[in-house]
Amino acid sequence: MTVTGKLVRVYQVDKQIRGLRSRLTAAERFLNEQTRVLGELATRKTAVDGQLRQITASASNEEGEVARITGRVEELRERMNNARTNKEYKALLTEVNTLKEQRGTHEDGAISRLEQIDKLKAQQAEIESQHTERTRMREVAESERRERADEIKDRLEALEAEREQVVADVPGEVLRAYEELVEQREDEAMAPIEIADRKRHEFTCGSCMMTLPIESMSALLSHGSLTRCVSCGCILYLEENTRESMTAKAKK
Ligand SMILES: [Zn+2]
Repeated sequence: MTVTGKLVRVYQVDKQIRGLRSRLTAAERFLNEQTRVLGELATRKTAVDGQLRQITASASNEEGEVARITGRVEELRERMNNARTNKEYKALLTEVNTLKEQRGTHEDGAISRLEQIDKLKAQQAEIESQHTERTRMREVAESERRERADEIKDRLEALEAEREQVVADVPGEVLRAYEELVEQREDEAMAPIEIADRKRHEFTCGSCMMTLPIESMSALLSHGSLTRCVSCGCILYLEENTRESMTAKAKK
């Protein structure tokens, strides 16, 4: 068997392995996405919890101020009732009015914080329900990933064993060139030569569709040495029917 023939065997096994893994890869991607979203929700929850703590504390400060001022106003009213002079009465009244104004500000502050608290609690509930839903989705994703992995396990093991065998026949240097191409191009690492026009010796690369020099075809026909597409660099091979059609023509 020629070096290209040996490499095609590896290529075909690799293609099957990639195909087999693709559903597992998709399931893994879906699972990772669920995990990522759950992480985001947890971060948002921490932020909202923190804000809520802070605003609750500040709302209770405002309420405390309101209560303190109310106490002080009552005290002053008591003193107003017992005021001996008009001047004293007026001074106390001024103080009461100032305090009432301050109390109004603190009451407004407390109300706006309570409104914020309501909004934050609604956000908390929303995050909570999203988290529950996502957790369910992640469970589904997890079992799907497991299923996909189980599904292909036996077939994958068989293919990996097969690969080990066929790869042993391929010279290291050739294998390295091939594997480098697989990194970049996956299934397009190799491509069959296609006959565009046999009479005119027009051949094209099955990957990039560009015209190939006749030498590419003859190299593969005669020695099957490593032949790359002059345009895209993929490793070329001959499919059985192409070879037959070329040799049949040669015999005529
Ligand atoms: Zn090409």
